[in-house]
Amino acid sequence: MSYLEKARKLFDEAKAVRRQIHQNPEVGFELPETVELIKKKLDEHNIAYSQLGDTCAIVGTLGDPSKGKTLLLRGDMDAIPMVEEAELEFASKKECSHLCGHDLHATSLLIALIMLKEDEDKLQGQIKFLFQPAEETLNGGKLMLEKGILENPKPDAGMALHMWPNGKKTGILIQKKEALASALNFKIEIKGKGAHGALPYNGIDPVFVASQIINGANGILARELPSNKGASLSMGYINAPGGAINIIPPNAYLEGTSRSLYSESAKHVAQRLPEIVEHIGKAFRAETEYEVAANAPALINTLEMSELVKESAEEALGSEYSVEYIEPILASEDYAHIASHLPESCYFFVSCPSPDEDGNVYAVHNPKVVFNEEALIIGPATMAQAAVNWLKKNSK
Ligand SMILES: [Zn+2]
Ligand SMILES: [Zn+2]
Repeated sequence: MSYLEKARKLFDEAKAVRRQIHQNPEVGFELPETVELIKKKLDEHNIAYSQLGDTCAIVGTLGDPSKGKTLLLRGDMDAIPMVEEAELEFASKKECSHLCGHDLHATSLLIALIMLKEDEDKLQGQIKFLFQPAEETLNGGKLMLEKGILENPKPDAGMALHMWPNGKKTGILIQKKEALASALNFKIEIKGKGAHGALPYNGIDPVFVASQIINGANGILARELPSNKGASLSMGYINAPGGAINIIPPNAYLEGTSRSLYSESAKHVAQRLPEIVEHIGKAFRAETEYEVAANAPALINTLEMSELVKESAEEALGSEYSVEYIEPILASEDYAHIASHLPESCYFFVSCPSPDEDGNVYAVHNPKVVFNEEALIIGPATMAQAAVNWLKKNSK
């Protein structure tokens, strides 16, 4: 039986798990109900697991390391702090919701593992799995590294998937190399001195300094990065509490993000931005503080593995679904923390549009987003087939 047929047989079970997670979303690093459900399902299917250090992440292995290499399969399981607007019979019961589809990611990994467990004696190597919290913070993957996800056993390669609900066709989308951008999320505090707006020389104007920092920081992109290896820089938050038409406030706050598909450019911005902040602050007598909220590298697929995943998707799904290469996307993903340490990796998208009655589809993080649950068939089928093929290719 093909993995597509096997996944179809597990579809009702998959939907039940996904809908239970969807109705009871949890945000961040502690996901007690989600983890309890996944552990219960792993128990039902005799898949052994443990907790990664003192985190709520679930890890385990399948197969036989003496036959070949170790492949890491990773699924995230956290929700986001936004209220869902789609009218689903299994809508979120909380103020947070699975608008990024991580309920489908955790379920897809679970279904892939159930199918691989059935074929365990045929696996030409070892599967290591990770159910990960806090992807949305862009710091969950980093915590996984700190807690030893790359040890005992050390994976030789990794694979993960993400839902893509605003595509045109249902199927699999893969980037050959650059997949997703790096993300440097930062906060800047400018400490000035309040004064009356008519007497600015009595104070240190933090709003003026903030505006110089915004301009100066963009000079990094325009003057210091190679034109073909660019980055973006957006400061989406500016606040100067206590200010008014004629009042210079004491402090100003900026928050923003920089993205790039190129690791050298991302490193350059991460190094130069705090320098620009500090020196512009000093130039105008303000004290500044610069804080990094998250710094995830770009997510880069390795060509050989991308090709293997594409061929595996075609093998698993046949002609019923589309399988295509796509261009890089400038969103970010904290699996990059892990992937950047692996010799081989492929991250792919499950295109799963579910248009509303007017034919509209919505992207992840949109409160109206709806995912086509067929993703719970084609995602796990692709992941399981690609895992089997990768282990076979790398067997002893
Ligand atoms: Zn997200
Ligand atoms: Zn996501």
